[in-house]
Amino acid sequence: MRILVTGGAGFLGSHLIDRLMTAGHEVICLDNFYTGNKRNILQWLDNHNFELIRHDITEPIRLEVDQIYHLACPASPVHYQYNPVKTVKTNVMGTLNMLGLAKRVKARFFLASTSEVYGDPDVHPQSEEYRGNVNPIGLRACYDEGKRIAETLAFDYYRQNKVDIRVVRIFNTYGPRMLENDGRVVSNFIVQALQGKPLTVYGDGSQTRSFCYASDLIEGFIRLMNSDYVGPVNIGNPGEYTILQLAEAVRDMINPNAEIIHEPLPSDDPRRRRPDITKAKTLLDWEPTVPLAEGLKLTVEDFRKRMGNAPI
Ligand code: NAD
Ligand code: UDP
Repeated sequence: MRILVTGGAGFLGSHLIDRLMTAGHEVICLDNFYTGNKRNILQWLDNHNFELIRHDITEPIRLEVDQIYHLACPASPVHYQYNPVKTVKTNVMGTLNMLGLAKRVKARFFLASTSEVYGDPDVHPQSEEYRGNVNPIGLRACYDEGKRIAETLAFDYYRQNKVDIRVVRIFNTYGPRMLENDGRVVSNFIVQALQGKPLTVYGDGSQTRSFCYASDLIEGFIRLMNSDYVGPVNIGNPGEYTILQLAEAVRDMINPNAEIIHEPLPSDDPRRRRPDITKAKTLLDWEPTVPLAEGLKLTVEDFRKRMGNAPI
């Protein structure tokens, strides 16, 4: 099949491309390199099944493809809040353009949505039926409201234009290739510990997240894309940790002497988050297989290689 991956030079997009290329598909990677990096797809650049297009999805594009995995959008609060208007444009105009493309060429369309659509949830764990608690005017709204309207667009194209959609809600995912300056918690803590700097816990660290390793997530993507279920489906690891527990785990793995310091909690930071993955289990026969300790070890190894750090 000929498959388009938007945001393919990013963290998750590049892992997805590895899977698709290895399976023998033709892959077109489309990226504007805002948070993506050519290094992530370097191994495929000379492959005749691979094509790279530098393009911003807020502009339309004409391509002939069978499937579209739509991932283009900065995912870290630091990067999506840097230019919030652009984040809204990417989610609204970008998703509209990609759905228009899917409609024209009758491609199956996969939307990378997010657990952020649940906002600061007052239901725990979060199942797909929960409609969320999102602040529409807060600092995170460009991203979480952006993804909510992206879901709306996908379902309206499905109902109105019969576009064949799949919608996944991704919970916090980590792994090799996250940028050193990504700004999300796992990469921040690893980089800080490797550099001998204090680990910065925002607030008292009692807020929780559930961390999924990248390879588990990508397996879930492939299963959903090739299933008959439209979604939305939560894909994530239900193992729930406080941010302080995560800091301690990273510290103990890299540098037991590293200091943990506290910084102010950003506004609207969700208090807790854990996926209910009953749907993924029953409909896709999917569940995560990589425990946090193992995934962290693999991620730390990757950061060490890239940062040229000798083991502390
Ligand atoms: P990432 O920032 O590494 O990747 C995003 C990619 O999209 C980058 O390569 C970036 O350059 C590209 N991009 C951004 N705006 C673009 C535009 N206007 N035009 C073309 N390309 C553009 O982030 P990621 O973690 O790989 O996330 C990928 C997708 O998964 C995003 O849609 C994100 O919202 C979603 N997601 C990720 C997580 C997670 O924990 N990693 C959680 C929930 C949802
Ligand atoms: N966080 C932290 N220190 C950091 C970066 C993030 O304590 O250096 C916290 C952040 O406040 C949030 C959690 O870690 O409570 C997860 O943050 P991230 O940005 O990774 O993801 P999101 O908040 O979007 O789930």
